[in-house]
Amino acid sequence: MKPREISLNAPTNGQAINGQKHNGKGEGLNGQASTNQASYLRNGHSSTDYEVLDDEPLSTRLDTPMHPEAHHLPESEKIEQIADKFADIMHILGLDLTDDSLKGTPQRVAKMYVQEVFQGLNPENKPAAKLFDNKYRYGQMLVEKDITLHSYCEHHFVPITGVCHVGYVSSGKVIGLSKINRIVRFYAKRPQVQERLTEQIAAELKEVLQTEHVAVVIDADHMCVSTRGVEDCASSTLTSHYSGQFDSPQGRQEFWNYLKSER
Ligand SMILES: [Zn+2]
Repeated sequence: MKPREISLNAPTNGQAINGQKHNGKGEGLNGQASTNQASYLRNGHSSTDYEVLDDEPLSTRLDTPMHPEAHHLPESEKIEQIADKFADIMHILGLDLTDDSLKGTPQRVAKMYVQEVFQGLNPENKPAAKLFDNKYRYGQMLVEKDITLHSYCEHHFVPITGVCHVGYVSSGKVIGLSKINRIVRFYAKRPQVQERLTEQIAAELKEVLQTEHVAVVIDADHMCVSTRGVEDCASSTLTSHYSGQFDSPQGRQEFWNYLKSER
């Protein structure tokens, strides 16, 4: 699978993205639905069933598309409702839910969705970012590479696994290194497309670090490519975001030299 071209620059100056106006303050990156986001249909559905109508291709939008009532239900209620519906899916598939091995599966899947693999949909799980003064006046690139990345393809609901490499140049503030891992993890723990995940991580790092000089590269395997469809286990998908000092031939070269360096 070839990575698709991304026509998106992270919103930092309030510029319009595909007709959407962003406020440049990173709002909408915390799992909250934008006020001017997609329109929704609620004809005959229960309060939790929505059909999203949207002309924009998902891979060119920065915010994860969420409906306006996304955060109304408590976690326990979400788990209960998902478990019910997952039991229906299993039953329709013909599985016997009275079987010892199967009967706990709906509850397990529901808890896994809400509390683990999709916990990044809940803005309350967003990592608090603590900044420190750059006392050492370190002015070069800081690169953290091979950050473990576990996400989920939003088109097939199967895992995406890989690594994320992040670089930044301090604007006078630095961040605890583990916070970078946590930011990557927060945005990965959502149904995702890799292009959006890359852009969301880059935008959050710029916001938190108050710098334009950010690079993000993701190299990942998509289970929807390797275990179904074309069943290609050899390919991986690379996406990148370079801005500020990283967005030049020299900047990219230096960043990639860091990535290639052996310990
Ligand atoms: Zn997929």
